[in-house]
Amino acid sequence: MADRKALDALFHERGYTEFKWIDARTIVVAQWVRMKCEYGCDDYGRHACCPPNVPSVADCRQFFGEYSTVVVFRFYKQVDSLEERRAWSRSVYEGLLELEREVFLSGYEKAFLLPMSSCSFCPECSSVREECIKPETARPTAEGLAVDVFSTVRRHGFPIEVLSRYDQPMNRYAFLLIE
Ligand code: SF4
Repeated sequence: MADRKALDALFHERGYTEFKWIDARTIVVAQWVRMKCEYGCDDYGRHACCPPNVPSVADCRQFFGEYSTVVVFRFYKQVDSLEERRAWSRSVYEGLLELEREVFLSGYEKAFLLPMSSCSFCPECSSVREECIKPETARPTAEGLAVDVFSTVRRHGFPIEVLSRYDQPMNRYAFLLIE
């Protein structure tokens, strides 16, 4: 099994320079996050990896309780259009999915990725989990699993702000659960 130093080297090799290992117990899971998904999010009921197609908040809490370590990856970006944001998000998603696989194959059978954005492999998401077109590549986001991303990353010194326009610089985060 690769040790933490070897994984750090792998992350750097793959171009991930901004990341931190954190204690999984510092992941903040909150009911209000689920409420925000249910009331106010365009994707509610429209995405196979978003609420209501995800475990309950209690199950999410239990899931995080089964890990001791998590790697938080920061992605900083400014885009000029929604199309550009979509293309960038998809390429980050694909890279992270490959990274999850590499970590898994290096001996970490529990490796599980929570990407920084919803799966966008298909132009139109099936919206139903059982009808997902590429279930082997579909992962829920951290917020989809009721993680308060704002509180969690701030706890670890990362910047994050509420944005009002798509062309403002973004601080986005992905989480890789490893044990
Ligand atoms: S693979 Fe397609 S259907 Fe499945 S979650 Fe991703 S976008 Fe939706």
